[in-house]
Amino acid sequence: MAITAIAVFVFACKEDNSTEETYEKEIAEIAEEETILEFGYDLKQYEFKRDTIKKGDTFGIILERNNIGYPKIYQIAEKAKDTFDIATKLQVGKPYTLLFSKENLSDSLQKPTTFIYQETLEEYVVIDFKDSIQAYTSRKPITYVQKTATGVIENNISETLEKKGLSHMLAYKMADDIYAWTIDFRRLQKGDRFKVMYTDKYIDDTIYAGVHNVKAAYFEHNGDSLYAFEFKTDSVKNIIDYFNEDAKNLRRAFLKMPVKFGRLSSRYNLKRRIAYYGYKVRPHKGTDFAAPIGTPIMATANGTVVESRRRGGNGKYVKIRHNDTYSTQYLHMKAQNVKKGQFVKQGDIIGWVGMTGNSGGPHVCYRFWKNGKQVDPFRQKLPEAKPISDSLKVRYLEYIKPIKQQLDNIHFLEAEPIEQENTITEDQITDIQ
Ligand SMILES: [Zn+2]
Repeated sequence: MAITAIAVFVFACKEDNSTEETYEKEIAEIAEEETILEFGYDLKQYEFKRDTIKKGDTFGIILERNNIGYPKIYQIAEKAKDTFDIATKLQVGKPYTLLFSKENLSDSLQKPTTFIYQETLEEYVVIDFKDSIQAYTSRKPITYVQKTATGVIENNISETLEKKGLSHMLAYKMADDIYAWTIDFRRLQKGDRFKVMYTDKYIDDTIYAGVHNVKAAYFEHNGDSLYAFEFKTDSVKNIIDYFNEDAKNLRRAFLKMPVKFGRLSSRYNLKRRIAYYGYKVRPHKGTDFAAPIGTPIMATANGTVVESRRRGGNGKYVKIRHNDTYSTQYLHMKAQNVKKGQFVKQGDIIGWVGMTGNSGGPHVCYRFWKNGKQVDPFRQKLPEAKPISDSLKVRYLEYIKPIKQQLDNIHFLEAEPIEQENTITEDQITDIQ
């Protein structure tokens, strides 16, 4: 609690003085009676200063501003560089903390003893130069809290979640992950309702870090009751799918399109005639999706990257082999995000929309190969995702038995608060096979 209060105080100060060029020292006083553990330090033992990296800030500039001279800065940077490349890695807007010893508090040239840089909410780098120079990376403690929630649709899922104070991430999980192939979330009806068992993630016990996973869900839509249970089918490749109460995979083998919000701009057409080529037939064996430059391109199915390179009219492209029958190819990328030989999962970002090669505008040309020939993906009866193996099926049905019972025992009561269950460890969550 104290940490949050101090952080808010410091940020508020910075805001007010943001126009001033001069850097102000802000040393937060900590209440005597409390122990504040953060970054592995008892902050009560130190004076500390929190700020964010500003434009033009470097490790050297920050330390120099805090009365550390250049010979020492070089020495620190040199020792720390195997852990953290100070010169290149500081990003504008990321928070950092400086610790000061309480001993020489009266000294007007107070020098910090430790620099802590937070790369993400969870991960941080410590460079401690109090005595000897030490540098290491670490993570903040994370807690997982299991919860259950219910909702009844009035207009749409986001509104229902918002009214109940639930994370919008639950909507994404249900619409994009779990029920993407079984429910059209733009066509939900008033009175459709759901139950969900999920895990929320917190950093340092207090900072909400989103929905970690959805363990099980139940959706009533159009008179259908759709169960979904999370289950890991391949622990090596870390493949997690959702299956219904009969162990049927809820996922299709292929996504309909490789971009989330793209406009179908040109379909597969063997008889296409183009004015530019004097109305001669120039077959188009791909399906074009127009989208702004930089839009993420997703692998439409699990598979192995067999090509990731730049060539002629294709520009920068990626080709993925899914199995003996199917491969897909994605052209005109701004840049690829995968390497040849890499295994990718459906929905993984493999590159970004661009206009390299022969491309009149930003789009991704999606090519769908079946048995070595390019076909129209919209005319294919796409296979269902890999069914669960017989041996796993037995385990799965055992596994979901108590979860389904728990799910069935959750009642739809609009006024009912979110139920918080026990706090669990990460191992307990991932133990889903
Ligand atoms: Zn095309």
